[in-house]
Amino acid sequence: MKVARFQAEGEISYGILDEAEQGAGIEIVELTGDPMIAGFDTTGRRFRFEDVRLLAPVIPRSKIVCVGKNYLDHVEEMRDETGGGLPEEPLLFLKPNTSIVGPGDAIVRPAISDRVEHEGELAMVIGAVAKDVPEEDALKYVFGFTAANDVTARDLQIADGQWTRGKGFDTFCPLGPVIETDPDLSDARVVTRVNGEVRQDGSTAQLIFSLSRIVAHASQAFTLLPGDVILTGTPAGVGRLEPGDTVEVEIEGIGILRNPVR
Ligand code: MG
Repeated sequence: MKVARFQAEGEISYGILDEAEQGAGIEIVELTGDPMIAGFDTTGRRFRFEDVRLLAPVIPRSKIVCVGKNYLDHVEEMRDETGGGLPEEPLLFLKPNTSIVGPGDAIVRPAISDRVEHEGELAMVIGAVAKDVPEEDALKYVFGFTAANDVTARDLQIADGQWTRGKGFDTFCPLGPVIETDPDLSDARVVTRVNGEVRQDGSTAQLIFSLSRIVAHASQAFTLLPGDVILTGTPAGVGRLEPGDTVEVEIEGIGILRNPVR
C-alpha cells in the first residue's frame, strides 16, 4: 500500500493511492487523519493523482535519525575525506525537521558552501513507540519506507569535524514521493540520477547493518516515536549538485523522489 501526504483544494491530508482502476489513472483515497496515529479510516473523498500536490510524506514530530557508512563501497570512497574504517556498529547522527522538503521542492545550495552533494537513501518511517526493541521484533515498529536524499555540504562537514551543520541546512532532507508500507527490500535498487545520468546505483542487499539492526540500535539510544524517520545510508557515487540540476532518488518498489537545485 502506498500512502501519500498531499494538498488539494487548500487542505493538507493523508491518502492511499488507488492504482487499480484500469485506464482511469491513479486516484488518491483521502484518510481522516494521520495513519501513523489514527489508522486507515477514509473520508469518502477521492482525488485524481494529477490534481493534487504531493508533500513530504511525513514531518517527524521529534527527529530524523541517519546512519553513516552503511555501504562498503561508500565507506571506501570517503576514507580520505571523513576518515575511519568500517564501523563496528551503526554510526548515528541526526538531521533537524527543518531540513525536510517534499517531492518537487527545491534543494537550496547555501552561499557558504561550494560543495553540496547528493546521497540517495532508503528511509524508514516509524509507526509505533520503540525503546530498547530486540532486533527480531524491530521491523514491527516500522510503518513503511520512502526515498530520501541526505544532502550534504561536504566542505562544511569536513571543516567542522562533525556533521550537524553540513547535513542540517534547510532543504537538505527531501523525502517522498510516498510511503510504501510493504515493499520487498531484500534486493531493492537504490539509484540516484542527476539530470538523468546515473550517479549512484546500489541495492539494499549491500547494507552493512540490516534495517532491523538499525531500528534496534537506534532505539537503544532514543525513544523512537510514530513519524520519526531513519535514513539508512548511501551507496558509492556521491557527487556535486549545481544550481539548475535536477536530482532523482529512485527506490525500487517505492518510487522516484525528484528535486531541482537552486
Ligand atoms: Mg547519508
